[in-house]
Amino acid sequence: MPEDDRPTGRHTKKGVASPGSLNPNLRRGKKRRWKLQDYVEGIKRGERVALAKAITLIESARPAHHQLAQQIIGHSVRIGITGTPGVGKSTFIEAFGQHLIEAAGRKVAVLAVDPSSQVSRGSILGDKTRMEQLSHYEQAFIRPSPAGDSLGGVARKTREAIILCEAAGYDTMIIETVGVGQSETAVHSMTDFFLLLLLPGAGDELQGIKRGIVEMADLAVVNKADGERLKLAKQAKQEYRNALHLLPPKASEWTAQVEICSATTGMGIPDIWNTVQDYVEMTKTNGYFQRNRSAQAKYWLHETIKTELQQSFFAHPDVRAQLKATEQAVVEGRQSSFQAAAHLLALFLKGHPGDK
Ligand code: GDP
Repeated sequence: MPEDDRPTGRHTKKGVASPGSLNPNLRRGKKRRWKLQDYVEGIKRGERVALAKAITLIESARPAHHQLAQQIIGHSVRIGITGTPGVGKSTFIEAFGQHLIEAAGRKVAVLAVDPSSQVSRGSILGDKTRMEQLSHYEQAFIRPSPAGDSLGGVARKTREAIILCEAAGYDTMIIETVGVGQSETAVHSMTDFFLLLLLPGAGDELQGIKRGIVEMADLAVVNKADGERLKLAKQAKQEYRNALHLLPPKASEWTAQVEICSATTGMGIPDIWNTVQDYVEMTKTNGYFQRNRSAQAKYWLHETIKTELQQSFFAHPDVRAQLKATEQAVVEGRQSSFQAAAHLLALFLKGHPGDK
């Protein structure tokens, strides 16, 4: 009997049309080949088949599978930006963000870490209509700093917002902060690449910026390199380059670069994006990119545990009931700080019998 005339379960009578396949994707024996888009969109829609197939790729030993898995995980890059007030951060992010969207096809989320946003109602980064042009783009998402009474709290909320923005499909995170206090360190601990904006002509400006912040920079950019200041900016670039070369080498093996730009004319903006891409390529090749992300994830795990523990400790009814009296006992010297802390901690732990 010729193959096509063989009776099958659903096609027994001659002359009766086949009802067709119940699943049009199931072509006899032929598997549809999954493309990057299929995985990404399937996972976003919450389809378990897509998730399972993607995990199989991660587990596979084949380099081609690994490469595809990396593409599915995403090519997000998190860029921290700092600089003293007035250096041109918002003007720069406005220009840089538009370049990312228009020339590079990226989706940009701009977040901020500004611990002053609660303390002095007019925060340093400000609520002024910043980055107005960028905010009109469908592919841009701009969010002011979360409020909070501690830098730790503000930073943790921003770090969580990064994860949410990436899940929502934004692939380029710009985390802005001000050149004060510890906020740079916090931003550095949640980003892949750290950019320091500087002014031209301020020859000794680097001296005014904490050494630790300069050491964190992967790229220093002299902004406002336009008009009369172009020449000054070029000189400053050389000075900064010399200064940065004196710093110890980075764990990433990347050598900090210095560039000039004008956020208002757009001069130099594409080069800055090229530098970011060079950095990403280099650190993905030498493994630092992933190592750093893993270390950051671990750091934030610990930070979150500490904060949550602290919050639940002070919210515990027995602790609340005795805190004032215990403080008093310590102040009056009736109990040592250590005894008092041990007493309160015991009350807290007693309320959590699971913790043996
Ligand atoms: P931020 O406080 O660091 O966010 O700085 P802003 O972006 O608000 O900029 C401060 C001032 O510098 C504004 O008046 C900007 O117009 C100006 N500015 C920013 N970038 C440039 C630039 O590249 N060239 C010139 N000439 N002015 C700039």
